Amino acid sequence: TGVLLQVDDLAVEFDTPKGPLRAVRGVSFQVGEGETLAIVGESGSGKSVTAHTLMGLVPLRARIVSGRVTIEGRDVTGLSDKEWRELRGERIAMIFQDPLSALNPSLTVGYQIAEMFRRHRRLGRKESRRLAVGLMEQVGIPDAERRLDDHPHRFSGGMRQRVMIAIALALDPRLLIADEPTTALDVTVQAQILRLLRQRQRADRLGMIIISHDLGVVARAADRVAVMYAGRIVETGTVAEVYERPAHPYTLGLMRAVPTPRDGGAPLEAIDGQPPDLLAPPDGCAFHPRCPFARDKCREVDPEQHELGPRRASACHFAEEVMTGVHTGHG
Ligand code: SF4
Ligand code: MG
Repeated sequence: TGVLLQVDDLAVEFDTPKGPLRAVRGVSFQVGEGETLAIVGESGSGKSVTAHTLMGLVPLRARIVSGRVTIEGRDVTGLSDKEWRELRGERIAMIFQDPLSALNPSLTVGYQIAEMFRRHRRLGRKESRRLAVGLMEQVGIPDAERRLDDHPHRFSGGMRQRVMIAIALALDPRLLIADEPTTALDVTVQAQILRLLRQRQRADRLGMIIISHDLGVVARAADRVAVMYAGRIVETGTVAEVYERPAHPYTLGLMRAVPTPRDGGAPLEAIDGQPPDLLAPPDGCAFHPRCPFARDKCREVDPEQHELGPRRASACHFAEEVMTGVHTGHG
């Protein structure tokens, strides 16, 4: 099956008064047709910057310093704003954590969905509204026809996220990027939205990227995982591989921080310490100040990606040891 997205050695830097901040460093991954990749990490790990860069939305004061992004075989690294506007929505679409800030509060939901068809497909008002109703039904908004003329504030958080998903899917993109799509929602609604995304992704064989700080969300929604720390991918594999035998101490820490019903939803054990200052990252492995496995070598040598299998890698000097020596965080 086809590779929809290919990212090679991407590096993104912010200009700050104190000098360049390397937010994303040497990030490479692929997303195939019908495949969901989760990018997981704490805030400041570079996961959102990576996602926005893929959409041509390089943040203010940031620039791509190296690397290449290819969407459906087309190098998009140097596209103009106009070319990006054509690509976005049509081939690649994004949904965000907070649908209320992404929707226009003064326009009806139906208008905002229908606008996709009017603007991009040059369809008339009636036809656009008809398609909007169909989309609202597809994403599980009850009583779609009547709700067409309601404004966003009349919808619950979960229903608003469904509206955003409808807008994102309107033009049949091949690739969908969801940045913390359920973080603002309560647990029951989270599960419903994840189920909906998964359904649509499977039905349309979309390539999907879910950005999340929550490994629990990822386990339910993704096929593959890339764990990011301090601007780098530190571990990749299938969901099962990463959960059953994590190969990087940071992943291990994230897993222990996943709340379980048994503890009343409180994290079992957060990872000690803070992510590094990316203006002055530590020598050697960026994780070493927080790593329970750290040794002298870790303070001196920045680890390369160790291949552990097909599309399975860890950027830890002691990956094999981490994999064999410990059980998952549920013990
Ligand atoms: Fe920990 Fe060393 Fe592995 Fe870095 S390289 S994650 S410090 S054991
Ligand atoms: Mg974010």
